[in-house]
Amino acid sequence: MADQKRDYYEVLGIDKNASDEEIRRAYRKLAKKYHPDANPDNKKEAEAKFKEVSEAYEVLSDKQKRQMYDQFGHEGPQGFGGQNGGYYSYGSGFDGFSGFSGFDDFGFGSFGDIFSAAFGGGTHRKSGPRKGADLRINTEITFEESYLGTEKNININRNKECPSCNGTGAKRGTNPQTCQVCNGTGKIKQVVTTPFGQMSTQKVCSNCGGEGKIIKEVCPECRGKGNVRESAKIKVKIPAGIADGQIVVLRGEGEPGVKNGPKGDLYINVHVKKHSIYTRKSDHVLCDIPITFTGATLGTEIEVPMVDGTKEKYKIPEGTQTGTKFVLKGKGFKSVNSNWKGDFVFTVVVQVPKKLTAEQRELINKLAVTMNEQPPIKKKGIFG
Ligand SMILES: [Zn+2]
Ligand SMILES: [Zn+2]
Repeated sequence: MADQKRDYYEVLGIDKNASDEEIRRAYRKLAKKYHPDANPDNKKEAEAKFKEVSEAYEVLSDKQKRQMYDQFGHEGPQGFGGQNGGYYSYGSGFDGFSGFSGFDDFGFGSFGDIFSAAFGGGTHRKSGPRKGADLRINTEITFEESYLGTEKNININRNKECPSCNGTGAKRGTNPQTCQVCNGTGKIKQVVTTPFGQMSTQKVCSNCGGEGKIIKEVCPECRGKGNVRESAKIKVKIPAGIADGQIVVLRGEGEPGVKNGPKGDLYINVHVKKHSIYTRKSDHVLCDIPITFTGATLGTEIEVPMVDGTKEKYKIPEGTQTGTKFVLKGKGFKSVNSNWKGDFVFTVVVQVPKKLTAEQRELINKLAVTMNEQPPIKKKGIFG
């Protein structure tokens, strides 16, 4: 296995005389390129490349280690970097070295962050069950739907356990075999003597890649991945009172878990379309209702159109000014989390007639004669 290892300089695509800066730049470029998060379609391959690149950098960025490597290569004294892994070990169980340097300024966080992002928290977690990834999706509903609550059919693409192999990745009728090298643990402990002293390391088993199992015959349906894509139709209950930007969470509707881990969740981000007459403020419904100038003057009964399509009769008192607000208690949104209900608040807008018949004009003229004084300008109160 050791002889298949690529030269570290070759891995980073740099010259043997490369400066520290060149090494750093090459690594930064490749680490970004092969970061598993940036390669969702071929994560496994990217992970392997990422590890290879990181290993090369880990050695070449350190003066002493680089010198050793230049002198001895992978097959250094006493297994120095000799086995797959060598200097480079990530996650837990690496108790020989401390002080990894140079990882903090790579634009995606510290050393620990890179590896938790790439491998789900390090090798020790790789062998155990893991929760599946969460999925996020947007959906749009009308104002009325947010008021009354609704049910939506949502289409999502996600992975599901391969029905052919039940998620094992092994061809139907065969079973994955326990790895003989690591006895199914996925890890190999080793003590390495280096010029810096003895290091006890725990490495990922290279025989099974840390899975603890070997698949002899790969399932042709999923090519050994254990899951296949499906496009699922999901019915989502959206509760009455939901506001724009709120999220409905469906537990267990995300990606399948790993090694019998629980499924991820589905987050549905709800957008409420703007309405032509209603707006929402907290749990209240607001709207403007036009009334006639005579209705405002003499008082009138109007029909207020409610969000649910019904009409409420309301008596507007005589002498109502434009801009006056009226409240229909408890006719607003239902609160999503309690039985509290907001109000329906409407503001009357008095319409001044723009076109008058001859008869109307005469009537208003008569009225005007009786009200020919200019009204006084209203003084505002201190708090008004
Ligand atoms: Zn399969
Ligand atoms: Zn193994």
